[in-house]
Amino acid sequence: MKAHDGMYIDGAWRPAAGPGVIEVVNPADEQVIATVPAGTVEDVDAAVRAARAALPGWAATPPAERAARLAALRDVLVARQDEIAETVTAELGSPPKLSQTVHAGVPIAVTGSYAELAATYAFEERTGNSTVLHEPVGVVGAITPWNYPLHQIVAKTAPALAAGCTVVVKPAEDTPLVARLFAEAVHEAGIPAGVFNLVTGLGPVAGQALAEHPGVDLVSFTGSTAVGRRIGAIASGMVKKVALELGGKSANVILPGADLARAVNVGVANVMSNSGQTCSAWTRMLVHHDQYDEAVELAAAAAAKYGDRIGPLVSATQRDRVRGYIAKGVAEGARLAAGGPDSPHERGYYVSPTVFADVTPGMTIAQEEIFGPVLSVLRYTDEEDALRIANGTVYGLAGAVWAADETEAVAFARRMETGQVDINGGRFNPLAPFGGYKQSGVGRELGAHGLAEYLQTKSFQF
Ligand code: NAD
Repeated sequence: MKAHDGMYIDGAWRPAAGPGVIEVVNPADEQVIATVPAGTVEDVDAAVRAARAALPGWAATPPAERAARLAALRDVLVARQDEIAETVTAELGSPPKLSQTVHAGVPIAVTGSYAELAATYAFEERTGNSTVLHEPVGVVGAITPWNYPLHQIVAKTAPALAAGCTVVVKPAEDTPLVARLFAEAVHEAGIPAGVFNLVTGLGPVAGQALAEHPGVDLVSFTGSTAVGRRIGAIASGMVKKVALELGGKSANVILPGADLARAVNVGVANVMSNSGQTCSAWTRMLVHHDQYDEAVELAAAAAAKYGDRIGPLVSATQRDRVRGYIAKGVAEGARLAAGGPDSPHERGYYVSPTVFADVTPGMTIAQEEIFGPVLSVLRYTDEEDALRIANGTVYGLAGAVWAADETEAVAFARRMETGQVDINGGRFNPLAPFGGYKQSGVGRELGAHGLAEYLQTKSFQF
Protein backbone atom coordinates (compact mmCIF):
# COMPACT_ATOMS: atom_id res chain seq x y z
CA MET A 1 0.00 0.00 0.00
CA LYS A 2 1.48 3.31 -1.04
CA ALA A 3 0.37 6.56 0.60
CA HIS A 4 0.88 9.30 -1.97
CA ASP A 5 0.91 12.87 -0.87
CA GLY A 6 0.92 16.05 -2.84
CA MET A 7 -0.78 17.48 -5.86
CA TYR A 8 1.05 18.52 -9.02
CA ILE A 9 0.67 22.30 -8.98
CA ASP A 10 2.86 24.90 -10.69
CA GLY A 11 5.45 22.36 -11.78
CA ALA A 12 6.01 20.68 -8.38
CA TRP A 13 4.39 18.19 -6.01
CA ARG A 14 2.88 20.32 -3.24
CA PRO A 15 1.37 19.10 0.04
CA ALA A 16 -2.44 19.08 -0.01
CA ALA A 17 -4.22 21.77 1.98
CA GLY A 18 -6.33 19.33 4.00
CA PRO A 19 -5.75 15.96 5.72
CA GLY A 20 -8.39 13.98 3.75
CA VAL A 21 -7.40 10.97 1.66
CA ILE A 22 -9.05 8.74 -0.96
CA GLU A 23 -8.40 5.00 -0.90
CA VAL A 24 -7.65 3.34 -4.22
CA VAL A 25 -8.91 -0.24 -4.45
CA ASN A 26 -7.85 -2.98 -6.85
CA PRO A 27 -11.24 -4.16 -8.14
CA ALA A 28 -9.91 -7.63 -8.99
CA ASP A 29 -9.11 -8.53 -5.35
CA GLU A 30 -10.73 -5.71 -3.36
CA GLN A 31 -7.42 -4.74 -1.69
CA VAL A 32 -6.54 -1.11 -0.95
CA ILE A 33 -3.44 -0.46 -3.03
CA ALA A 34 -2.81 3.23 -2.38
CA THR A 35 -4.17 6.47 -1.02
CA VAL A 36 -4.10 9.90 -2.61
CA PRO A 37 -4.99 13.27 -1.11
CA ALA A 38 -8.60 14.41 -1.29
CA GLY A 39 -8.19 17.93 -2.65
CA THR A 40 -10.16 20.84 -1.26
CA VAL A 41 -11.31 24.20 -2.55
CA GLU A 42 -7.89 25.64 -1.54
CA ASP A 43 -5.99 23.09 -3.65
CA VAL A 44 -8.21 23.82 -6.64
CA ASP A 45 -7.70 27.54 -6.15
CA ALA A 46 -3.91 27.14 -6.02
CA ALA A 47 -3.97 25.04 -9.20
CA VAL A 48 -6.19 27.49 -11.10
CA ARG A 49 -3.98 30.43 -10.03
CA ALA A 50 -0.92 28.55 -11.30
CA ALA A 51 -2.68 27.83 -14.60
CA ARG A 52 -3.71 31.50 -14.98
CA ALA A 53 -0.20 32.71 -14.25
CA ALA A 54 1.24 30.32 -16.86
CA LEU A 55 -1.35 31.19 -19.52
CA PRO A 56 0.21 34.29 -21.16
CA GLY A 57 3.58 32.57 -21.60
CA TRP A 58 2.18 29.30 -22.97
CA ALA A 59 -0.35 31.05 -25.24
CA ALA A 60 2.52 33.12 -26.71
CA THR A 61 4.78 30.08 -27.18
CA PRO A 62 5.06 29.44 -30.94
CA PRO A 63 2.93 26.45 -32.05
CA ALA A 64 6.07 24.66 -33.27
CA GLU A 65 7.49 24.76 -29.73
CA ARG A 66 4.20 23.59 -28.21
CA ALA A 67 4.28 20.77 -30.78
CA ALA A 68 7.83 19.86 -29.71
CA ARG A 69 6.75 19.61 -26.04
CA LEU A 70 3.81 17.39 -27.02
CA ALA A 71 6.12 15.17 -29.06
CA ALA A 72 8.39 14.91 -26.00
CA LEU A 73 5.36 13.98 -23.90
CA ARG A 74 4.42 11.26 -26.39
CA ASP A 75 7.98 9.88 -26.12
CA VAL A 76 7.77 9.76 -22.31
CA LEU A 77 4.42 7.94 -22.56
CA VAL A 78 6.08 5.43 -24.90
CA ALA A 79 9.02 4.95 -22.52
CA ARG A 80 6.64 4.43 -19.58
CA GLN A 81 4.05 2.34 -21.45
CA ASP A 82 4.52 -0.78 -19.29
CA GLU A 83 4.23 1.19 -16.07
CA ILE A 84 1.09 2.93 -17.35
CA ALA A 85 -0.49 -0.41 -18.32
CA GLU A 86 0.34 -1.97 -14.93
CA THR A 87 -1.10 1.03 -13.10
CA VAL A 88 -4.38 0.92 -15.06
CA THR A 89 -4.66 -2.83 -14.47
CA ALA A 90 -4.16 -2.28 -10.74
CA GLU A 91 -6.71 0.51 -10.27
CA LEU A 92 -9.28 -0.28 -13.02
CA GLY A 93 -8.91 -4.06 -13.17
CA SER A 94 -8.55 -4.26 -16.95
CA PRO A 95 -6.76 -7.33 -18.37
CA PRO A 96 -3.02 -6.63 -19.03
CA LYS A 97 -3.31 -6.90 -22.82
CA LEU A 98 -6.14 -4.36 -22.97
CA SER A 99 -4.18 -2.07 -20.65
CA GLN A 100 -1.16 -2.20 -22.97
CA THR A 101 -2.88 -1.79 -26.29
CA VAL A 102 -5.77 0.51 -25.41
CA HIS A 103 -5.29 2.20 -22.03
CA ALA A 104 -1.60 2.94 -22.63
CA GLY A 105 -1.53 2.71 -26.44
CA VAL A 106 -4.36 5.08 -27.42
CA PRO A 107 -3.03 8.02 -25.34
CA ILE A 108 0.29 7.68 -27.17
CA ALA A 109 -1.50 7.89 -30.54
CA VAL A 110 -3.64 10.83 -29.42
CA THR A 111 -0.72 12.79 -27.94
CA GLY A 112 1.22 12.13 -31.16
CA SER A 113 -1.71 13.34 -33.26
CA TYR A 114 -1.78 16.66 -31.36
CA ALA A 115 2.00 17.07 -31.67
CA GLU A 116 1.41 16.97 -35.43
CA LEU A 117 -1.72 19.13 -35.40
CA ALA A 118 -0.07 21.82 -33.25
CA ALA A 119 2.67 22.07 -35.87
CA THR A 120 0.38 22.17 -38.90
CA TYR A 121 -2.92 23.78 -37.80
CA ALA A 122 -3.86 27.11 -39.39
CA PHE A 123 -3.99 29.30 -36.26
CA GLU A 124 -4.35 32.30 -38.59
CA GLU A 125 -6.31 32.55 -41.84
CA ARG A 126 -7.55 35.14 -44.31
CA THR A 127 -11.17 35.62 -45.35
CA GLY A 128 -11.94 38.53 -47.70
CA ASN A 129 -10.44 41.66 -46.15
CA SER A 130 -10.04 40.03 -42.72
CA THR A 131 -7.45 38.04 -40.86
CA VAL A 132 -8.97 35.53 -38.46
CA LEU A 133 -6.90 34.47 -35.46
CA HIS A 134 -7.66 31.23 -33.60
CA GLU A 135 -6.57 31.99 -30.04
CA PRO A 136 -6.54 29.78 -26.94
CA VAL A 137 -9.74 29.93 -24.86
CA GLY A 138 -7.73 30.26 -21.64
CA VAL A 139 -7.66 28.11 -18.50
CA VAL A 140 -9.33 24.72 -18.90
CA GLY A 141 -10.87 22.80 -16.00
CA ALA A 142 -10.95 19.13 -17.02
CA ILE A 143 -13.05 16.63 -15.04
CA THR A 144 -12.63 13.01 -16.11
CA PRO A 145 -14.15 9.56 -15.44
CA TRP A 146 -12.47 6.24 -14.60
CA ASN A 147 -13.44 4.05 -17.55
CA TYR A 148 -10.48 4.97 -19.81
CA PRO A 149 -8.59 6.87 -17.14
CA LEU A 150 -5.55 8.03 -19.09
CA HIS A 151 -7.30 8.42 -22.44
CA GLN A 152 -9.91 10.75 -20.94
CA ILE A 153 -7.20 12.99 -19.48
CA VAL A 154 -5.15 12.99 -22.70
CA ALA A 155 -8.19 13.61 -24.94
CA LYS A 156 -8.64 16.93 -23.10
CA THR A 157 -5.09 17.88 -22.15
CA ALA A 158 -3.32 17.25 -25.47
CA PRO A 159 -5.61 19.46 -27.61
CA ALA A 160 -5.78 22.11 -24.87
CA LEU A 161 -1.97 22.33 -24.74
CA ALA A 162 -1.75 22.28 -28.55
CA ALA A 163 -4.18 25.24 -28.63
CA GLY A 164 -2.11 27.22 -26.10
CA CYS A 165 -4.47 26.75 -23.14
CA THR A 166 -3.34 25.81 -19.64
CA VAL A 167 -5.07 23.03 -17.73
CA VAL A 168 -6.20 21.84 -14.31
CA VAL A 169 -7.29 18.18 -14.26
CA LYS A 170 -9.51 16.60 -11.61
CA PRO A 171 -9.43 12.84 -12.33
CA ALA A 172 -12.00 10.27 -11.17
CA GLU A 173 -11.63 9.20 -7.54
CA ASP A 174 -11.42 5.49 -8.47
CA THR A 175 -8.44 5.92 -10.83
CA PRO A 176 -6.12 8.72 -9.66
CA LEU A 177 -2.86 6.75 -9.93
CA VAL A 178 -2.43 6.85 -13.70
CA ALA A 179 -3.31 10.56 -13.51
CA ARG A 180 -0.34 11.08 -11.14
CA LEU A 181 1.84 9.13 -13.53
CA PHE A 182 0.71 11.41 -16.35
CA ALA A 183 1.68 14.49 -14.30
CA GLU A 184 5.17 12.99 -13.90
CA ALA A 185 5.32 12.45 -17.66
CA VAL A 186 4.31 16.08 -18.30
CA HIS A 187 7.12 17.18 -15.97
CA GLU A 188 9.68 14.93 -17.68
CA ALA A 189 8.61 16.26 -21.08
CA GLY A 190 9.70 19.76 -20.04
CA ILE A 191 6.25 21.36 -20.21
CA PRO A 192 6.62 24.63 -18.28
CA ALA A 193 5.42 24.98 -14.68
CA GLY A 194 1.73 25.82 -14.31
CA VAL A 195 0.76 24.76 -17.83
CA PHE A 196 -0.58 21.43 -16.52
CA ASN A 197 -1.84 20.94 -12.94
CA LEU A 198 -3.43 17.97 -11.19
CA VAL A 199 -5.76 18.01 -8.20
CA THR A 200 -7.08 14.65 -6.95
CA GLY A 201 -10.29 14.75 -4.97
CA LEU A 202 -13.98 13.99 -4.70
CA GLY A 203 -16.35 15.11 -7.45
CA PRO A 204 -18.77 17.14 -5.34
CA VAL A 205 -15.84 18.89 -3.59
CA ALA A 206 -12.82 19.32 -5.87
CA GLY A 207 -14.74 18.76 -9.13
CA GLN A 208 -17.43 21.24 -8.25
CA ALA A 209 -14.86 23.80 -7.00
CA LEU A 210 -13.08 23.54 -10.35
CA ALA A 211 -16.29 23.98 -12.38
CA GLU A 212 -17.30 26.98 -10.25
CA HIS A 213 -13.90 28.69 -10.15
CA PRO A 214 -14.07 32.14 -11.78
CA GLY A 215 -10.52 31.64 -13.07
CA VAL A 216 -11.59 28.74 -15.30
CA ASP A 217 -12.66 29.78 -18.81
CA LEU A 218 -13.77 26.40 -20.18
CA VAL A 219 -15.01 23.34 -18.31
CA SER A 220 -14.50 20.08 -20.17
CA PHE A 221 -16.33 17.22 -18.52
CA THR A 222 -16.69 13.53 -19.32
CA GLY A 223 -18.94 11.40 -17.15
CA SER A 224 -22.54 10.77 -16.32
CA THR A 225 -25.43 12.75 -17.75
CA ALA A 226 -26.62 13.66 -14.24
CA VAL A 227 -23.34 15.37 -13.29
CA GLY A 228 -22.94 16.78 -16.81
CA ARG A 229 -26.26 18.57 -16.46
CA ARG A 230 -25.09 20.23 -13.21
CA ILE A 231 -21.79 21.27 -14.76
CA GLY A 232 -23.61 22.68 -17.78
CA ALA A 233 -25.87 24.71 -15.48
CA ILE A 234 -22.90 26.07 -13.48
CA ALA A 235 -21.02 26.97 -16.65
CA SER A 236 -23.94 28.69 -18.33
CA GLY A 237 -24.71 30.60 -15.11
CA MET A 238 -21.18 31.98 -15.20
CA VAL A 239 -21.09 32.33 -19.02
CA LYS A 240 -18.18 29.89 -19.35
CA LYS A 241 -17.61 27.66 -22.30
CA VAL A 242 -18.43 24.02 -21.65
CA ALA A 243 -17.80 20.68 -23.35
CA LEU A 244 -19.72 17.61 -22.19
CA GLU A 245 -19.04 14.00 -23.16
CA LEU A 246 -21.84 12.02 -21.53
CA GLY A 247 -23.48 8.63 -21.77
CA GLY A 248 -24.62 6.48 -24.66
CA LYS A 249 -26.91 3.61 -25.64
CA SER A 250 -25.58 2.92 -29.10
CA ALA A 251 -27.18 0.66 -31.69
CA ASN A 252 -25.44 -2.06 -33.68
CA VAL A 253 -27.73 -2.43 -36.69
CA ILE A 254 -27.36 -5.67 -38.64
CA LEU A 255 -29.21 -5.37 -41.95
CA PRO A 256 -30.32 -8.50 -43.84
CA GLY A 257 -27.53 -9.57 -46.21
CA ALA A 258 -24.73 -8.63 -43.79
CA ASP A 259 -22.20 -11.22 -42.63
CA LEU A 260 -24.26 -12.16 -39.57
CA ALA A 261 -21.62 -14.17 -37.69
CA ARG A 262 -19.01 -11.44 -38.07
CA ALA A 263 -21.42 -8.64 -37.17
CA VAL A 264 -22.55 -10.49 -34.04
CA ASN A 265 -19.04 -11.50 -32.94
CA VAL A 266 -17.57 -8.02 -33.41
CA GLY A 267 -20.65 -6.57 -31.71
CA VAL A 268 -20.29 -8.81 -28.66
CA ALA A 269 -16.55 -8.06 -28.44
CA ASN A 270 -17.34 -4.34 -28.59
CA VAL A 271 -19.73 -4.60 -25.62
CA MET A 272 -17.59 -6.94 -23.48
CA SER A 273 -14.32 -5.03 -23.98
CA ASN A 274 -13.31 -3.08 -20.84
CA SER A 275 -16.05 -5.06 -19.05
CA GLY A 276 -18.69 -2.97 -20.81
CA GLN A 277 -17.47 0.28 -19.26
CA THR A 278 -17.37 2.13 -22.57
CA CYS A 279 -19.70 5.04 -23.21
CA SER A 280 -19.72 4.38 -26.97
CA ALA A 281 -20.38 0.61 -26.65
CA TRP A 282 -23.02 -0.83 -29.00
CA THR A 283 -25.19 -2.17 -26.19
CA ARG A 284 -28.29 -2.65 -28.37
CA MET A 285 -27.99 -5.17 -31.19
CA LEU A 286 -30.77 -4.79 -33.78
CA VAL A 287 -31.49 -7.88 -35.88
CA HIS A 288 -34.13 -8.62 -38.57
CA HIS A 289 -36.79 -11.02 -37.25
CA ASP A 290 -35.88 -13.70 -39.81
CA GLN A 291 -32.34 -13.90 -38.42
CA TYR A 292 -33.17 -13.16 -34.81
CA ASP A 293 -32.91 -16.64 -33.25
CA GLU A 294 -29.65 -17.38 -35.03
CA ALA A 295 -28.18 -14.04 -33.91
CA VAL A 296 -29.15 -14.64 -30.27
CA GLU A 297 -27.52 -18.07 -30.35
CA LEU A 298 -24.34 -16.65 -31.87
CA ALA A 299 -24.27 -13.79 -29.36
CA ALA A 300 -24.77 -16.11 -26.38
CA ALA A 301 -21.96 -18.38 -27.58
CA ALA A 302 -19.63 -15.40 -28.14
CA ALA A 303 -20.42 -13.97 -24.69
CA ALA A 304 -19.79 -17.31 -23.00
CA LYS A 305 -16.29 -17.34 -24.50
CA TYR A 306 -15.55 -14.09 -22.66
CA GLY A 307 -16.38 -15.71 -19.31
CA ASP A 308 -12.86 -15.88 -17.89
CA ARG A 309 -11.21 -13.19 -19.97
CA ILE A 310 -13.27 -10.28 -18.76
CA GLY A 311 -12.01 -7.97 -16.00
CA PRO A 312 -14.03 -6.79 -13.01
CA LEU A 313 -16.05 -3.59 -12.90
CA VAL A 314 -14.28 -0.66 -11.30
CA SER A 315 -16.08 -0.68 -7.94
CA ALA A 316 -18.64 -2.45 -5.80
CA THR A 317 -21.06 0.40 -6.52
CA GLN A 318 -20.79 -0.12 -10.27
CA ARG A 319 -21.10 -3.90 -9.92
CA ASP A 320 -24.25 -3.53 -7.82
CA ARG A 321 -25.68 -1.01 -10.28
CA VAL A 322 -25.12 -3.36 -13.22
CA ARG A 323 -26.57 -6.34 -11.35
CA GLY A 324 -29.59 -4.20 -10.55
CA TYR A 325 -30.11 -3.59 -14.28
CA ILE A 326 -29.83 -7.33 -15.01
CA ALA A 327 -32.49 -8.05 -12.38
CA LYS A 328 -34.66 -5.32 -13.88
CA GLY A 329 -34.31 -6.82 -17.37
CA VAL A 330 -35.54 -10.18 -16.07
CA ALA A 331 -38.38 -8.53 -14.13
CA GLU A 332 -39.54 -6.63 -17.24
CA GLY A 333 -39.74 -9.86 -19.25
CA ALA A 334 -36.46 -10.05 -21.20
CA ARG A 335 -34.91 -13.53 -21.54
CA LEU A 336 -31.39 -14.30 -20.33
CA ALA A 337 -29.52 -16.00 -23.19
CA ALA A 338 -26.13 -15.84 -21.42
CA GLY A 339 -24.82 -14.69 -18.04
CA GLY A 340 -27.05 -13.27 -15.35
CA PRO A 341 -26.85 -11.44 -12.05
CA ASP A 342 -24.68 -13.98 -10.17
CA SER A 343 -21.01 -13.14 -9.71
CA PRO A 344 -18.62 -15.51 -11.48
CA HIS A 345 -15.90 -15.08 -8.79
CA GLU A 346 -15.95 -14.93 -5.01
CA ARG A 347 -13.65 -11.91 -4.81
CA GLY A 348 -13.52 -8.90 -7.01
CA TYR A 349 -16.27 -6.82 -8.60
CA TYR A 350 -17.00 -9.21 -11.46
CA VAL A 351 -20.18 -9.49 -13.51
CA SER A 352 -20.76 -12.33 -16.01
CA PRO A 353 -20.91 -11.41 -19.68
CA THR A 354 -24.65 -11.20 -20.17
CA VAL A 355 -26.89 -11.35 -23.24
CA PHE A 356 -30.59 -10.53 -23.12
CA ALA A 357 -33.00 -11.72 -25.82
CA ASP A 358 -36.64 -10.73 -26.39
CA VAL A 359 -35.82 -7.15 -25.45
CA THR A 360 -38.39 -4.59 -26.58
CA PRO A 361 -37.46 -0.95 -27.25
CA GLY A 362 -39.31 0.48 -24.24
CA MET A 363 -37.64 -1.72 -21.61
CA THR A 364 -35.32 -0.07 -19.10
CA ILE A 365 -32.37 -2.18 -20.32
CA ALA A 366 -33.01 -0.89 -23.86
CA GLN A 367 -33.19 2.75 -22.81
CA GLU A 368 -30.75 3.38 -19.94
CA GLU A 369 -26.99 3.17 -19.99
CA ILE A 370 -25.92 0.09 -17.99
CA PHE A 371 -22.12 0.52 -18.15
CA GLY A 372 -21.38 -3.16 -17.72
CA PRO A 373 -20.96 -6.30 -19.89
CA VAL A 374 -24.63 -6.50 -20.84
CA LEU A 375 -25.96 -6.75 -24.40
CA SER A 376 -29.61 -6.44 -25.39
CA VAL A 377 -30.70 -8.06 -28.65
CA LEU A 378 -33.79 -6.46 -30.23
CA ARG A 379 -35.76 -7.55 -33.29
CA TYR A 380 -36.99 -5.31 -36.10
CA THR A 381 -39.42 -5.95 -38.93
CA ASP A 382 -38.02 -3.68 -41.69
CA GLU A 383 -35.50 -0.86 -42.17
CA GLU A 384 -37.88 1.88 -41.02
CA ASP A 385 -38.56 -0.08 -37.86
CA ALA A 386 -34.80 -0.55 -37.33
CA LEU A 387 -34.21 3.19 -37.73
CA ARG A 388 -37.00 4.06 -35.29
CA ILE A 389 -35.51 1.72 -32.69
CA ALA A 390 -31.93 2.87 -33.33
CA ASN A 391 -32.91 6.54 -32.89
CA GLY A 392 -35.39 5.85 -30.09
CA THR A 393 -33.34 6.83 -27.03
CA VAL A 394 -32.26 10.13 -25.50
CA TYR A 395 -28.65 9.30 -26.44
CA GLY A 396 -26.70 9.53 -29.70
CA LEU A 397 -23.01 8.88 -29.16
CA ALA A 398 -21.99 6.05 -31.51
CA GLY A 399 -23.25 3.05 -33.45
CA ALA A 400 -22.54 0.50 -36.15
CA VAL A 401 -24.20 -0.63 -39.36
CA TRP A 402 -23.56 -3.89 -41.18
CA ALA A 403 -24.91 -4.57 -44.68
CA ALA A 404 -24.12 -6.58 -47.78
CA ASP A 405 -22.37 -3.53 -49.23
CA GLU A 406 -20.97 -0.27 -47.95
CA THR A 407 -23.38 1.96 -49.90
CA GLU A 408 -26.39 0.36 -48.24
CA ALA A 409 -24.79 0.65 -44.78
CA VAL A 410 -23.84 4.31 -45.38
CA ALA A 411 -27.38 5.16 -46.56
CA PHE A 412 -28.74 3.82 -43.26
CA ALA A 413 -25.99 5.47 -41.17
CA ARG A 414 -26.81 8.90 -42.66
CA ARG A 415 -30.24 8.67 -41.07
CA MET A 416 -28.94 7.78 -37.61
CA GLU A 417 -29.01 10.49 -34.92
CA THR A 418 -25.56 9.79 -33.55
CA GLY A 419 -22.04 11.20 -33.58
CA GLN A 420 -20.01 8.23 -34.84
CA VAL A 421 -20.89 5.15 -36.89
CA ASP A 422 -18.64 2.22 -37.79
CA ILE A 423 -19.48 0.87 -41.24
CA ASN A 424 -19.10 -2.91 -41.67
CA GLY A 425 -16.58 -3.06 -38.83
CA GLY A 426 -14.58 0.13 -39.49
CA ARG A 427 -11.44 0.71 -37.43
CA PHE A 428 -10.85 3.33 -34.68
CA ASN A 429 -9.41 6.57 -36.05
CA PRO A 430 -7.81 8.93 -33.49
CA LEU A 431 -8.33 11.87 -35.89
CA ALA A 432 -12.11 11.39 -36.31
CA PRO A 433 -14.32 13.68 -34.20
CA PHE A 434 -15.89 11.92 -31.22
CA GLY A 435 -18.94 13.24 -29.37
CA GLY A 436 -22.65 13.07 -29.01
CA TYR A 437 -25.95 14.03 -30.59
CA LYS A 438 -28.89 14.68 -28.26
CA GLN A 439 -28.18 14.03 -24.55
CA SER A 440 -24.85 12.34 -25.23
CA GLY A 441 -23.13 15.67 -25.00
CA VAL A 442 -21.97 19.01 -26.29
CA GLY A 443 -18.79 19.45 -28.33
CA ARG A 444 -16.30 17.07 -29.92
CA GLU A 445 -13.02 15.47 -28.92
CA LEU A 446 -10.06 14.17 -30.98
CA GLY A 447 -8.45 15.40 -34.17
CA ALA A 448 -8.80 18.92 -35.56
CA HIS A 449 -12.41 19.17 -34.29
CA GLY A 450 -11.17 18.44 -30.77
CA LEU A 451 -8.52 21.15 -31.11
CA ALA A 452 -11.10 23.71 -32.27
CA GLU A 453 -12.98 23.27 -28.95
CA TYR A 454 -10.07 24.97 -27.17
CA LEU A 455 -9.82 27.92 -29.56
CA GLN A 456 -11.75 31.17 -29.90
CA THR A 457 -11.63 33.54 -32.85
CA LYS A 458 -10.60 37.16 -33.21
CA SER A 459 -10.81 38.97 -36.54
CA PHE A 460 -8.92 41.98 -37.90
CA GLN A 461 -10.50 43.92 -40.77
CA PHE A 462 -8.23 45.70 -43.26
P1 NAD B 1 -19.51 10.70 -12.85
O1 NAD B 1 -20.29 11.69 -13.60
O2 NAD B 1 -19.99 10.27 -11.53
O3 NAD B 1 -18.01 11.21 -12.61
C1 NAD B 1 -17.21 11.76 -13.63
C2 NAD B 1 -16.28 12.79 -13.01
O4 NAD B 1 -17.07 13.84 -12.46
C3 NAD B 1 -15.44 12.26 -11.85
O5 NAD B 1 -14.16 12.87 -11.88
C4 NAD B 1 -16.19 12.74 -10.63
O6 NAD B 1 -15.37 12.92 -9.50
C5 NAD B 1 -16.71 14.08 -11.11
N1 NAD B 1 -17.88 14.57 -10.39
C6 NAD B 1 -18.84 13.85 -9.74
N2 NAD B 1 -19.74 14.70 -9.18
C7 NAD B 1 -19.35 15.96 -9.48
C8 NAD B 1 -19.87 17.25 -9.18
N3 NAD B 1 -20.98 17.42 -8.46
N4 NAD B 1 -19.22 18.33 -9.66
C9 NAD B 1 -18.11 18.19 -10.41
N5 NAD B 1 -17.55 16.99 -10.71
C10 NAD B 1 -18.17 15.89 -10.25
O7 NAD B 1 -19.36 9.50 -13.86
P2 NAD B 1 -18.56 8.14 -13.64
O8 NAD B 1 -19.40 7.24 -12.82
O9 NAD B 1 -17.19 8.44 -13.17
O10 NAD B 1 -18.45 7.63 -15.16
C11 NAD B 1 -19.44 6.87 -15.77
C12 NAD B 1 -20.29 7.70 -16.70
O11 NAD B 1 -19.48 8.49 -17.59
C13 NAD B 1 -21.13 6.87 -17.61
O12 NAD B 1 -22.45 7.35 -17.60
C14 NAD B 1 -20.51 7.05 -18.99
O13 NAD B 1 -21.32 6.94 -20.08
C15 NAD B 1 -19.93 8.40 -18.92
N6 NAD B 1 -18.80 8.49 -19.85
C16 NAD B 1 -18.94 9.18 -21.04
C17 NAD B 1 -17.90 9.25 -21.93
C18 NAD B 1 -18.02 10.00 -23.23
O14 NAD B 1 -17.00 10.26 -23.85
N7 NAD B 1 -19.17 10.38 -23.68
C19 NAD B 1 -16.70 8.65 -21.63
C20 NAD B 1 -16.59 7.95 -20.43
C21 NAD B 1 -17.64 7.90 -19.54
